[in-house]
Amino acid sequence: MSYDVTRKILAVESYKPVSGECDIHLDANESFIDIFREAPYLADKIADEIKNISINRYPDPYASGVTAAFSEYYGIPEKYLTAGNGSDELISLIIGALLQKGETIVTLSPDFSMYAFYGSISEVKVHQMKKEDNLSVSIPKLIEYCNNNSVSAVIFSNPCNPTSLGVSRSDIIKLVRNLFCLVVIDEAYMDFWGLENSVADAVEEYDNLIVLKTCSKSMGLASARTGFAVAGEKLTKVLRTVKSPYNTDGLSQAAVKAVLSEKNLLKANTERIIESRKSLNKALIGLAEKYDRLDKVYESVTNFVLVKTSHAAEIQKQLMERSISVRCAGNGYLRITAGSEEENKALIDALEDILK
Ligand SMILES: *Cc1c(COP(=O)(O)O)cnc(C)c1O
Repeated sequence: MSYDVTRKILAVESYKPVSGECDIHLDANESFIDIFREAPYLADKIADEIKNISINRYPDPYASGVTAAFSEYYGIPEKYLTAGNGSDELISLIIGALLQKGETIVTLSPDFSMYAFYGSISEVKVHQMKKEDNLSVSIPKLIEYCNNNSVSAVIFSNPCNPTSLGVSRSDIIKLVRNLFCLVVIDEAYMDFWGLENSVADAVEEYDNLIVLKTCSKSMGLASARTGFAVAGEKLTKVLRTVKSPYNTDGLSQAAVKAVLSEKNLLKANTERIIESRKSLNKALIGLAEKYDRLDKVYESVTNFVLVKTSHAAEIQKQLMERSISVRCAGNGYLRITAGSEEENKALIDALEDILK
């Protein structure tokens, strides 16, 4: 017997995290703050919560405890929230379950690669609309494309990974108002820009809007795989119906709930990350002024900085040789996550050394 893998799967390009051992990880947009090490009392609190779990029982299918804590943290009513195993699972669920095979989704380019990835697994047509030359998004062009091409859903990140740029709240609302299809706005990095730019509070008014949130970035909980979909009651009912019953595990539910109750710590950590990004952004702009091989550094509103350079692959390799990982984003860009003060300094020193 020889099993033939279906054609759709042969066409799927797997997500490739930067591989190889290294000391300084600036490639995955994680938080550089390890709260278990920095706040041992919190690690102990979580350990106690976990000891109280009935590990032989299935967890709460609606993750009520962590959902209530998330609702409280952002001021989003629980009835609009669906918990997921990271927002990645929710992207997969939205594309795989809300759309039908052969329907068209529109995403932007460059943007998060997972939208097209889940689209191809679900046999959904993916149209990647190119951004403007300065990497901004033309909302009028997006509206025109969607309304002329029977598009079923639009999905993109705001602020964007990898461009690090944001689309204003008024532009997003304009998009949602002018489209009849589903609009999914992935706000993984919104905490770094400012919640006044979020459209999460608009789901009550617009029943075609889903906003995705994650605990992986500003909260520093990437290992606990927890994200949320924010949507009006109709779409929330659908998402809760189609999700797998126990999609978030009991250990993560307990851990994330405990961390979410530490509002002050989370706000302070978000501020620390923003400060780090500002200083990284500034230092990289300094290098770009000095060295022609860096073409442009974008003004980031996220926890990473995008650098335009036609030498991206070679610089990434030379940084890796110095045990620093950064990510090549598309053709001709480096995406560098803000690290601790020492990590940023090590990166800038290494870049000087490579570029001089
Ligand atoms: C990091 C990231 C996420 C978060 O994924 P999780 O599965 O919640 O860890 C979602 N969207 C974008 C654009 C990201 O960069």
